[in-house]
Amino acid sequence: LFAAVELAPRDPILGLTEQFNADTRSNKVNLGVGVYYNDEGRIPLLKAVRKAEQARIDAAAARGYLPIEGLPGYNRAVQELLLGADSPLIAAGRVLTAQSLGGTGALKIGADFLKRLVPQAKVAISDPSWENHRALFEYAGFEVVNYPYYDAATHGVNFAGMIAALEGYPAGTVVVLHACCHNPTGVDLTADQWTKVVEVVKARRLIPFLDIAYQGFGDGIDADATAVRQFADAGLTFLISSSFSKSFSLYGERVGALSLVAADKDESGRVLSQLKRVIRTNYSNPPTHGGTVVAQVLTSPELRSEWEAELGEMRERIRAMRAALVAKLKERGVARDFGFVMQQRGMFSYSGLTAAQVDRLREEHGIYAVSTGRICVAALNSRNIDAVADGIAAVLK
Ligand code: PMP
Repeated sequence: LFAAVELAPRDPILGLTEQFNADTRSNKVNLGVGVYYNDEGRIPLLKAVRKAEQARIDAAAARGYLPIEGLPGYNRAVQELLLGADSPLIAAGRVLTAQSLGGTGALKIGADFLKRLVPQAKVAISDPSWENHRALFEYAGFEVVNYPYYDAATHGVNFAGMIAALEGYPAGTVVVLHACCHNPTGVDLTADQWTKVVEVVKARRLIPFLDIAYQGFGDGIDADATAVRQFADAGLTFLISSSFSKSFSLYGERVGALSLVAADKDESGRVLSQLKRVIRTNYSNPPTHGGTVVAQVLTSPELRSEWEAELGEMRERIRAMRAALVAKLKERGVARDFGFVMQQRGMFSYSGLTAAQVDRLREEHGIYAVSTGRICVAALNSRNIDAVADGIAAVLK
């Protein structure tokens, strides 16, 4: 039966981590990862999370099944985080949310739902994008195309190219948009650019699918939701995948959500009924732990403010590392201006290093980055940043 099965290509980023683990150099640094490490180089367990977990253990709650769409309190809290607590759309019953297995699970149930609704549609993702976007939508049966996004020459967005591509798509094309902290580049649209995107998406009747996996890692919880709220204010119907993997440091608990904004309450009920079929036939209902913990933190005023403070610390530490990297490269006499790293947002930076320079960084300095030049700024810390600056300065000579 399985004799003809071919070996699938290795995941490039996980492959890099395997190589890193096998490296025996004591001063090695892994900047290829996609997680936030604290200054001690560890994945933090947030205090607010620990308290909510303790309360849950103390309550010794039974582990019955959740509803297909997940915990109602969690789903409501997700909507408020995305659209604002006073959102008229939530009040009107136009928003429906399903708790999902991380942001990936949200994209997948959204993709499966869309495949039944608009089977002929193409899906457009940014060039470049999170590497799983293409695979995920292709596996769901869609043809995936790229719209121009990153401009290597300016370390910014090729906005004219992006808009021209959006204007050229037929109505009903699904457009996946990184709402903030673009992965892999770190380069985001400005609020004014979002206004233009919303205008084009509306005029061309495209289907917006917003992916927000780093809310709070850019400029703050509300500031990072600017794109989501602009789409909401424009009266559009759209999809949002969101994730607490990073903002709650709950990677392995798989806590995310798919939210859809429908035209009215009746439509919202019908859409939810179909989404539940997608979920029911995939994994039936989501797990209890992560959703319960996140809901507890978001709805308890004390835990919530503690979480917001901890999220702010993560955000500020990343910013400080960006600034330190830029300053330290300058100190080492690097001629290239790395100031663009300060303009980028979130965990990642397209550093501008070539694949050959990335190879030298790894081989000669034990510093691991993705071959595209993507580095995880959230993996820098006060102990490894000098070695990283030394390595980058050396490969740029
Ligand atoms: N979307 C983007 C843009 C991401 O970068 C990621 C994770 N790295 C995800 C979705 C998926 O997040 P999760 O780990 O919660 O599945």
